[in-house]
Amino acid sequence: MNEEIYDVIIIGAGASGLMMASLLNDKNLKVCVLDSNATIGAKIKVSGGAKCNITNKYLHESNFLGEQDFIKSIFSKFDNNDLLKFLHKNSLYPNLNEKIVKGTYFCNSSNEVISLFKKLTKDIHFKLNTTVKNVEYLENLFCIKTDKNIIKTKKLVVASGGKSFANLGASDIGFKIAENFGHRVQTLNPALVGFTVQKDQFWFKELSGLSLNVKIKVDGKTVVGDMLFTHKGCSGPAILTTSLYWKKGKFSIDFLPSKDSYLPKRFKKAIKELDIDIRNYEISPAGNYGYTKAEVTKGGISTPEINVENMESKLQKDLYFLGEVLDVTGELGGYNFQWAFSSAFVCSQNIMNKI
Ligand SMILES: Cc1cc2nc3c(=O)[nH]c(=O)nc-3n(C[C@H](O)[C@H](O)[C@H](O)COP(=O)(O)OP(=O)(O)OC[C@H]3O[C@@H](n4cnc5c(N)ncnc54)[C@H](O)[C@@H]3O)c2cc1C
Repeated sequence: MNEEIYDVIIIGAGASGLMMASLLNDKNLKVCVLDSNATIGAKIKVSGGAKCNITNKYLHESNFLGEQDFIKSIFSKFDNNDLLKFLHKNSLYPNLNEKIVKGTYFCNSSNEVISLFKKLTKDIHFKLNTTVKNVEYLENLFCIKTDKNIIKTKKLVVASGGKSFANLGASDIGFKIAENFGHRVQTLNPALVGFTVQKDQFWFKELSGLSLNVKIKVDGKTVVGDMLFTHKGCSGPAILTTSLYWKKGKFSIDFLPSKDSYLPKRFKKAIKELDIDIRNYEISPAGNYGYTKAEVTKGGISTPEINVENMESKLQKDLYFLGEVLDVTGELGGYNFQWAFSSAFVCSQNIMNKI
């Protein structure tokens, strides 16, 4: 059998895995990145309408679901300003564009982010078209079984993301690895996703394609932004963020959130025969569009079992977890890439110190 031993293996050539590899590229380390896709950064490529919404001016732990102290501590080491500085240093200048969501920074093209990571990882060994099946720990080495062979490493970084968008390489391997090493995985659900509706909201279908500025109250949070009516229910930026906080039961929509708001004729016509409170319209979604349409997976590896100083498992030495695989999920607006990059930064600094 063909066996190789690396210092560090990173599972996932997505946002967090690429940042991690870039930061380890400086050192004379034997690092390998594995990914089932044929190319790197599949989600980066399609993100933000191919312009990659890379971070947010108003980054704060309260924009995330997850353990607030844990998230705060990671951002205290690498936040949105540090990310922008890192990008500027590498001649990439994202623009503030607040047309859709407050505080969002977009790149000119997501390809420039991928090109940057290609440049920064030139000394890293990539094994693409390689799917990880299973991991075991034997005689102080991680043995990674792939669809091709077994590869061994002293340190293993799991940056394999969530379950959303399987057509872009997503799988549940990170959660399985964590569970095999005794970690708890908090319930997984699609998030940043549209809702399907129940009979009471079938009038939404008549308005398919219409977008309205609304204020939504959900589980103690207030979300302001555009809501899009669709043939299946509702979507748009405000609804996507609502899906992050919605558990089950009702949330309420204010269709006239400000003095400048007005209701389009189509909307007035659709609600004419209905007795609804347009300032406090309550809805209980039937469900959501699922993992094929969800931008992220909420839930994940429980963070009290992860060392906040270096992202290492508290249950298995030399095993690290980054990005979306953890129980940390951000709102729509560049928060999830920032989390992926910040967690990678914290991990990379500490791996460098230890090798
Ligand atoms: C359509 C879309 C648009 C988005 N737009 C934005 C945006 O504009 N801004 C933002 O902040 N966030 C956005 N997101 C969310 C963001 O892409 C993710 O939160 C982020 O990429 C997570 O980073 P990660 O490194 O944890 O995982 P990923 O970037 O998903 O990387 C995980 C990698 O692991 C690989 N992998 C998985 N399983 C295996 C396996 N078994 N073997 C080998 N490799 C494996 C995958 O192929 C993938 O390349 C978007 C998501 C989607 C789906």
